[in-house]
Amino acid sequence: MQEFSCLTSLGIGHLKIVDHGSVQMSDLNRQILYNERDIGLKKADIAYEKLSLLNSDILIESICEEITSENILRLIKGVQIVIDGTDNFETRLILNKACFEKKIPYVYGGIFGFKGKMTTFLPGRTLCIECLYPKKEEVVPVIPVVGPIPGLIATLQVLEALKLILGLGDSLVGRLLSFDGETMVFSYFDIKKRPGCRICSA
Ligand SMILES: [Zn+2]
Repeated sequence: MQEFSCLTSLGIGHLKIVDHGSVQMSDLNRQILYNERDIGLKKADIAYEKLSLLNSDILIESICEEITSENILRLIKGVQIVIDGTDNFETRLILNKACFEKKIPYVYGGIFGFKGKMTTFLPGRTLCIECLYPKKEEVVPVIPVVGPIPGLIATLQVLEALKLILGLGDSLVGRLLSFDGETMVFSYFDIKKRPGCRICSA
């Protein structure tokens, strides 16, 4: 949810928050929008309340729904950029497919323990997430999270989105950024379309 605090502070005019989860104690090591009194309440609704206090000049929508292949096209209707704050590969595949179908830039971010990674997929121009991860990722029951890592990646995702909106700077198009919090090293990898990809090479 850190991305939404940044987007709200920046004054991005219309935000759509989609999250079906409730605030858990285990979220509080990283999701600084929430506190102990919010435990058990819907994340999207609490985010809406708090972000509205931060900036009343923008339009914020909170949608407490799980993202599925049935509702995704409705959820992203009218959206100009999708910022991925999800925590599972299945949902990312749904976002990926819909973004490429509707030609919406998709700013991907993922974390695991001390590590974080991100890139920007531009439909019609770059690879997609199925090219990056051709094999289905192993499902991990509980993803280890070192508090500052998701905040760092979320902040960088917002920076990517801001540059896309303003048409400034060099984005991560065609590059994967990887950060290792144990060694404090940022690395970049060139990434390319996989020939025959059903999503981005069609
Ligand atoms: Zn692809």
